[in-house]
Amino acid sequence: MDNDALRHNIDKLLERVRLSAEKSQRKADSVQVLAVSKTRPADDVRRAAALGLRDFGENYLQEALDKIAALADLDLCWHFIGPIQSNKTRPIATHFQWVHSVDRLKVARRLSEQRPPGLPDLQVCLQVNISGEESKSGVSLADLPGLAREVAQLPRLRLRGLMAIPAATTDPAQQRAPFAALRAALADLQRQNPDLDTLSMGMSGDLEAAVAEGATIVRIGTDIFGPRSAPAGG
Ligand SMILES: *Cc1c(COP(=O)(O)O)cnc(C)c1O
Repeated sequence: MDNDALRHNIDKLLERVRLSAEKSQRKADSVQVLAVSKTRPADDVRRAAALGLRDFGENYLQEALDKIAALADLDLCWHFIGPIQSNKTRPIATHFQWVHSVDRLKVARRLSEQRPPGLPDLQVCLQVNISGEESKSGVSLADLPGLAREVAQLPRLRLRGLMAIPAATTDPAQQRAPFAALRAALADLQRQNPDLDTLSMGMSGDLEAAVAEGATIVRIGTDIFGPRSAPAGG
């Protein structure tokens, strides 16, 4: 994507974030933009970084590792946001600063064991299956408190909060309900663990609803980098 288009998209996005924060009497800097760079070439990430973005989110491990290596000269913060296979935790523990998609204890334990001791703690969000969809990853609301208690005790991980990808809808009122539920779930956990401070929720199509319900990280791909082409070969 060319630089002018990218600059235009980023300006527009930051303005949307600012306006939605203002509407909810929140400070614009209380909402962090995570640029979702899955399927985008490393050069697009380099350009976005030159335009001031620093946090990038990736879903597919091998693609992410290639990009992280290609951009090692930049001071970027990498977030893993995709489904995690438990036999692929070591490179995640080694090359990322954040993981948003931890949804079971086995994966958390492996990340904890495999986080290299010389690095800062790995910042972790638990992914919650907030819409209760059978097919979606994420811990159920019923199992969340137990998982949070266990993960909070693991060395070299720092539990920061919750992440969700609600069922898609374009109706703003319907968009808010699952985000409100995630916010309430975080508030419950904060009674035991007041350090939790992160709600990773909201994407290009629903960022206003997410910010209205307290999102602290919005994960934006399309509205920064343009539409993704369909993945080749499924
Ligand atoms: C792709 C993706 C996003 C970004 O979605 P857009 O609609 O392109 O903004 C956010 N979060 C996760 C987990 C994703 O996989």
